[in-house]
Amino acid sequence: MSFPRENCRIVGTPIGNLNDLSPRAVQALADADIIFAEDTRSARGLLSSLKLSKPLESYHKDNEDEAAERIIKALAEGKKTALISEAGMPGISDPGMLFIKRAIDENIPFEIIPGPCAAVSALVASGLSRDGRFLFYGFLPRKKKETVLLKLREIPYPIVFYESCHRIKQTIELLLRVFPPPVAVCRELTKIYEEALWLFNPQEIEKITPRGEFSLVVNNGGDNEPTGSKKGMDKEGVSIEMLSELLKERGLKTGEIVELLKKLGVKRNRAYKQAL
Ligand code: SAM
Repeated sequence: MSFPRENCRIVGTPIGNLNDLSPRAVQALADADIIFAEDTRSARGLLSSLKLSKPLESYHKDNEDEAAERIIKALAEGKKTALISEAGMPGISDPGMLFIKRAIDENIPFEIIPGPCAAVSALVASGLSRDGRFLFYGFLPRKKKETVLLKLREIPYPIVFYESCHRIKQTIELLLRVFPPPVAVCRELTKIYEEALWLFNPQEIEKITPRGEFSLVVNNGGDNEPTGSKKGMDKEGVSIEMLSELLKERGLKTGEIVELLKKLGVKRNRAYKQAL
């Protein structure tokens, strides 16, 4: 398919503060003949704040295949398109990547108009990466969170998670059990009630107002020294309780778990207690 790159734009939009919409993004929306949006209602709000009115079509996680097809058809008809998600960068814990993958595979030229991203803003606000290296994980799965987190512990970089306000307290508690403190809690970034808190122990979780949008950052012993130590952790920061749970899940017998815990320096009595 041959047309100018600017006919197909992937556009970053604000994560809260409308003033973060870049002039290039405004231009891309103004130029578009059709805007493909994850949430057409919020897209209409964004457009009306710019005094623009444009045909909108939905592109969300449940219709991505078919919507990607519609973008390609519009491009083939010579139309200018823009793809936006509900907030931030399309494709980052949001729909968009499926179309981008197709565009690459099918030699469809496209242009990225970068915008705010909660993960990058949270990482910078957290101060937990000395040189900017980090791992973005996004939302944890609903089940087997511990197993995922223990695997992530092996990657020595600060990690950024997304979480909804409904599960925020449980997730912070879990992160404090697995990673060296602190957990940086970034709430409502770029908005009026923006705040960042650094939590070192589960008692502090009560400081959190479970409303709004949250991004979490853990240090993970990467390029920064851990800033605290945690009771109930071995020297590498693994929770003994959690390790025993995992070993039980894997089917190890009580005696085998005790032996392993003892090798990690846990006293015999405590090892038995945990294993049972
Ligand atoms: N595409 C977006 C981006 O580029 O950041 C992310 C979309 S994802 C569906 C939404 C999640 O991002 C929220 O649940 C929250 O974890 C995080 N998030 C979005 N806006 C935020 C904000 N203003 N402050 C903190 N976290 C935010």
